[in-house]
Formats: sequence, C-alpha cells, structure tokens
Amino acid sequence: MESATLAFLHKTFQQVQRMSDWKSALDTLFVSLRTSFVFDNVAIYLEDAHTKGLEVEYARAVGRGKTAEAEAAWGEGIASEVIAQGKQILADPAPEADPENRLAQAYLLGVPLYFGSNLRGALVFIRFGGPAYSTVHNQIACLQALWTTALIERRDLQEARAELDSVQRQMRLQDDFVSTITHELRTPLGFIKGYSTSLLREDAHWDEATQREFLSIIDEEADRLARLIEDMLESARLHSKTLPFKFAPIRVDALVRDVATRILARYTNMKFAFEFQPLPPINGDGKRLSQVFENLFNNAIKYAPGSEIIISGRVVENKILVTVADRGEGISQEYIPFLFERFYRVPGERTVTGTGLGLYICKQIILAHHGTIRVESALGKGTMFFIELPVDASD
Ligand code: ADP
Repeated sequence: MESATLAFLHKTFQQVQRMSDWKSALDTLFVSLRTSFVFDNVAIYLEDAHTKGLEVEYARAVGRGKTAEAEAAWGEGIASEVIAQGKQILADPAPEADPENRLAQAYLLGVPLYFGSNLRGALVFIRFGGPAYSTVHNQIACLQALWTTALIERRDLQEARAELDSVQRQMRLQDDFVSTITHELRTPLGFIKGYSTSLLREDAHWDEATQREFLSIIDEEADRLARLIEDMLESARLHSKTLPFKFAPIRVDALVRDVATRILARYTNMKFAFEFQPLPPINGDGKRLSQVFENLFNNAIKYAPGSEIIISGRVVENKILVTVADRGEGISQEYIPFLFERFYRVPGERTVTGTGLGLYICKQIILAHHGTIRVESALGKGTMFFIELPVDASD
C-alpha cells in the first residue's frame, strides 16, 4: 500500500480507538474509509448464540449524503452465505437485472467476522451501479472486518463490566441490608419489650395516662414492625414477579387525596398542596398505587422535614403525569442513578431510619402498570418525582 493510504488508515484507526461509544466508532470508521472505498450501505449481522438466527447489529446508509440507519434486509442472504462458507463472498448484480435501473445493479461484498477462531457473523457492503470491487477494496473490507470485531468485542466487554459492577453493587447492598434490617427490627422490638416489661412490673404502679402512653408506643412500634415485614415480603415478591395485581378503573387524583388524608391523620402539621387538572380514570391497582404515594409522602416527611409536599396531575398525550415535590435538602446527582435499586440508601449520616426498599417497591409497582417513575433533585432546593401512567394500564 502507498504511504499516503497507510497514513490515512493509521489516522482513522487512531481516531476510532479513542472513541468510547462503539456505534459512533463504527460510524467514524465507515464514513472515513469510504473516501478510499465507495459503498452505499453497510450492515453487520451477528448470529444469535441461542436461536442461531441472524441479528442486525448495525446498519448504515452512507451513500448520497444519507446518514440515517438503513434497512438491512438487503444483506441477509449474502451474510448467511458468508457464515455458511466461512469466507469472503462477492456478488455481482443478477444477469436479468434491469441495466437502466441503478438500484437493481447491486454489487455486494460480504466478509466473515471472526472473534478469535469463532465465526459469529458477517460484514456486508452494497454498492449500487458498480463498478465491481477491486482487490484493494477487498483488502480494505477485510481490515474493516477486523476493526469491526475489535469494536464489538470491546462493546461486549463494556457491557459485561457494567453488569458485573451492578451485580457487585447489589451484593454490597445486600450485605449492608443485613445490618440495616437487624437494626430496623431491633429498635421497635426494643421499645415493645421495654414498655411491656415496665407495664408488667409488679413493684411499679402506673397511672392510667402513663399506661395508655406506653400502650400506644407499643402499638405504634408493632405497626412499624408490621410495615417493615410487609415491605420485605412485598419487595421479594415484586423481585420474583409473584405479587398479584388487581386492575380496576381508578381516579388517581382521588386516590392521592385519600393517601394524603391518611398521612395527615398521623402527622397533623403536614402541608399538602394539590395542583390537579381533570384526569381521566386509569386502569390500575388502587391498593398498590396508594402504596407508591404513601412511600413518596413518607420519604418527603423523613428526608424533607417541615417541607410542604406539592402534588400535581395532568394529562400528557395518552398518559397521566403525576409529580410529587418537596422543598427539602435534595439528593446529590451522583446518587440519582441508583435510588430505585433494591436496598439502596444514599450513603452518609444515618440519622433517618429506612431499608432502601421504598423506592424499589414504587418503581416495580409503576412498571407493573406499564408506567415510568423518575426523579429530579437539586441540593438545597428539593426533590421531585415524576410518575407517568398510561390511561389504559391493564395487561
Ligand atoms: P429508605 O427511605 O428506606 O432509605 P427508599 O428506597 O425509600 O429507602 O429511598 C432511597 C433513598 O433515597 C433514601 O435513603 C434517601 O436517601 C433518598 N430519598 C428518597 N426520597 C427522598 C426525598 N424526598 N428527599 C431526599 N432524599 C430522598
């Protein structure tokens, strides 16, 4: 090869090597190499490890100023042939193809994609209206195939590493959870044991008001224990997808107000502000959706003490959008991606009790309604949860 070509290839490969996103790297590779090797469309086909069917991993139209992803059915035939034969294949237009119609004059070039000694797919180029591919084109296509496999392997590695990171984080969270839950179970049990032992003491006499006070503490702590156990069971059943849902027409605005009323009975100083536009009924599980709002309100009470809770509801396209906002301390951006993971709690001072199950449960319930939940937060300003639910949310 001439030194100009080598210098060009070197520059291109260096540029591609530095790109972290495999798709942009492939885009750059194909677009820049097209100056020495003209083609209209390119596609990468990989064999699915389980079904053995061909999957289009990447497709791009580069001819005539096109940049959008191309339909890739055109290359499936030659890709299967390349994989069956394990070698490069050139296919000229069919002899009966209309010579006047440029699009019928398809010149195909397919190159096998070897991952180590494993043949897993094919890289296919198509050029309309000729000329036929030269030897140099074939060599460049082989180089591109090598680079393509390197980029796909790098992508697979990145995905595997991300999955490993997530599994490791889950394992760490589970370890933390054991100590959290031990503490969370011990505290109410300690209260229950302490106050009931006091009441049972034969050498002490408690007036009626004190007895009632002790009993109501025991009652509250027993409720706390029950909620905790319920949360643990529920999150396990949501995790294994065995929690049953009962769908029926629901008015979310009425449901949210009911939950707020129940919270107000317990926290009389709480302030709620409602900004609801008329909402159509949705198909949902009332008990589970109530749980979502109860969790969000309880979190606002725990993590944004003293703040008003502002709830809005409106229709956006065929969905209803409900937001729950507080004006608390907010959450640092670095923790936002993990908030809905099971057992996740924002690290730091642990003055507020919790298990890290609440937001996980919320998310699973919303997903079961084919909806979405996300959060935005600004330190020192507050936190806002966005819930979108389709108007027809049944299965
Ligand atoms: P828990 O409250 O049991 O820790 P959650 O899953 O309900 O678990 O919440 C996860 C974390 O998200 C909490 O530990 C808390 O740090 C943070 N968080 C949730 N809601 C808010 C909020 N409204 N304001 C600030 N932080 C919040």
